Amino acid sequence: MKSDTEDKKKFLPYGLHSIDEKDLQAVRDVLVSGWLTTGPKVEEFEQQIALCAGVSYAAAVNSGTAALHAAMYAIDLKPGDEVIVPAMTFAATANAVVYQKGVPVFADVDGQTLLIDPEKLEEKITPKTRAIVSVDYAGQMCDYDALRQIAKKHGLYLIADACHSIGGKYKGAPSGSCADLSVFSFHPVKHMTTGEGGMVVSDNKTFIDRAKQFRNHGITTDFRQREAQGSWYYEIEELGFNYRLTDFQCALGITQLEKLADNIKKRNILARQYDAFFSNIPQISPLKTEDGNYHAYHIYVIQLHLEALEKTRDQIFSRLRNEKIGVNVHYIPVHYHPFYKREFKTHKGMCPVAEAAYETILTIPLFPLMEKEDVQRVCDAVKAAL
Ligand SMILES: *Cc1c(COP(=O)(O)O)cnc(C)c1O
Repeated sequence: MKSDTEDKKKFLPYGLHSIDEKDLQAVRDVLVSGWLTTGPKVEEFEQQIALCAGVSYAAAVNSGTAALHAAMYAIDLKPGDEVIVPAMTFAATANAVVYQKGVPVFADVDGQTLLIDPEKLEEKITPKTRAIVSVDYAGQMCDYDALRQIAKKHGLYLIADACHSIGGKYKGAPSGSCADLSVFSFHPVKHMTTGEGGMVVSDNKTFIDRAKQFRNHGITTDFRQREAQGSWYYEIEELGFNYRLTDFQCALGITQLEKLADNIKKRNILARQYDAFFSNIPQISPLKTEDGNYHAYHIYVIQLHLEALEKTRDQIFSRLRNEKIGVNVHYIPVHYHPFYKREFKTHKGMCPVAEAAYETILTIPLFPLMEKEDVQRVCDAVKAAL
């Protein structure tokens, strides 16, 4: 029989948002203001995020996926254009290419960082390639010097799927400023949340103007602009969507953003505690991190050395879940999904490093509200599970 204390153990998810009184008040203020969407908070939030990302322009949308889609539209991706995407990412990175009738081409990752491997990327470039998407996996910034060099050499756009890295830095440059366009998500499991939400940021005004038109059905003006002009007339120049983010969500985003820097600092402190523990466990390696960058630690991923263990990753996963440790696996290689196999003839063997890593990775809990004791509890449970 389980003891009382064991029964009361709380479930530790792999990630968790936090909402405080200030957040609640900010949302409430907008809800009673009479202006719920496409109002002043949208622009304010955009300006704040642009500032955080070290760029001039930003367009708020209602998810990170919508932001990726808007980015593909912004660069005017045409049917049949190829976009290079790492195999180790959330499927939305590649789905956004398909939404614009582009062709995602999967590139392999480095086995120790799980970041897109610039060396292996170049051989995927064809005359049809238009863009490269970098994914700052787990919150670690990609090798942007190398990626920019390749993009420049071949005349390609570089789009950063920075959904894991907001608040992080590459050689001192903030996440959001390292590519032609960068994309953030404000899903509750990310560093800061608006419930659902996303943002496209860039120093290129044309890209952001296009993204703003795209989020509003392709209409060339928004409601407030028409109101200011005393006019009802509008035109749809190209097909867009309703990807708008509400004012009360943007208000939440603004107060959440105020806490971002402290939260990432806390994530780094907890990560150091994990690092120290796992440095004494030979069967486990945390992902390799590069010096000189600031890691945003969206997630903490460990790699199991299965050859040194008598268990599979899935057995360890189940053990930990039974202990109310909310481990997860990020990600199933995108080219494994039946949709991609069917529509793009992808198959096992295309990206062997990502495929091998997929068998060994485990995401363990990391979020700013965790205490040192929680980290220790996860460490002990992982060790016991081995
Ligand atoms: C979360 C995430 C997305 C999608 O963001 P949503 O806001 O959930 O649509 C895209 N790419 C990566 C790498 C993500 O982690």
